[in-house]
Amino acid sequence: MPTCALPDCTRPTNEAAVCRSCLDLLRTDLATIPDLVGELDVTIARQARTGQRVGGRPSEEPLPFNAAASEIRDDLRGVLSTWIRDLWETYGPRREVPTGEVAADGTPVAVSELDPLDTLPDMAAWLRRHPSWIAAHPAAGDLVDEMLDAICRVRRAIDVPPERLYCGPCPDCGTGLYARPDRVSVTCRECDTRHDVAELRAALLAAARDHLATATEIARALPGLLGRELSANTVRTWAYTGRLAKRTPDAQGRPRYRVGEVIDLALSTPPRVTYPDRSCAKMPISSG
Ligand SMILES: [Zn+2]
Ligand SMILES: [Zn+2]
Repeated sequence: MPTCALPDCTRPTNEAAVCRSCLDLLRTDLATIPDLVGELDVTIARQARTGQRVGGRPSEEPLPFNAAASEIRDDLRGVLSTWIRDLWETYGPRREVPTGEVAADGTPVAVSELDPLDTLPDMAAWLRRHPSWIAAHPAAGDLVDEMLDAICRVRRAIDVPPERLYCGPCPDCGTGLYARPDRVSVTCRECDTRHDVAELRAALLAAARDHLATATEIARALPGLLGRELSANTVRTWAYTGRLAKRTPDAQGRPRYRVGEVIDLALSTPPRVTYPDRSCAKMPISSG
């Protein structure tokens, strides 16, 4: 029996790629978006007022920093709008797949155009109205995974104190080192040796360079190492636009990418991941 496509889920599924529980989880999470976005906006306003960039460092320092709350909101917008566009192009009325929705008077709902979805709550509500499209989508696993991940990042960004940055094992004694994001050095708790944070994290990144990983794996592992947001969506866009080479796929046939090339692209791209503010209906799937 096939199992759910989500990386951490082993529940069986029938026809759909994603199990009932994971779809329900997404629906529940989408329902929290209006509240989350409201709180996120408060956080964004405070960061703008105080100039606080969580773990902020001078811009000439390539490493490390955590994303500003506004970038996390933009990232959520990018993930939702990209998948909405994809769902619409896959199942929208041009291909005459019924929406399954019925109006109050009992007639099937006929939609001729994708209405512009300007706000995140609009997008979330739209997605909640199309559970069958989501369940049937060929990439439903990635869709659900990326949306849950983006919503999770929003939750973490709300009033969360600056996180400690993982700097790898102490070169002298092997103890895991965690630095405060505003510090340039970290002192090992075990052997009391002081180390340069930027050097340690550069070494961690260098060690990751030769690995191959899928977009989803990279989005899960690299932001912590790189100290910046990097979504699977962005990685796929780079591949789609020819900036990033696809390497040997994994066992499930998903394209993999060389981590070093992703790092180089990420560091050569301005830190702010921007998704231009535009109506979802007009948004191309791939945007740089
Ligand atoms: Zn599942
Ligand atoms: Zn040590």
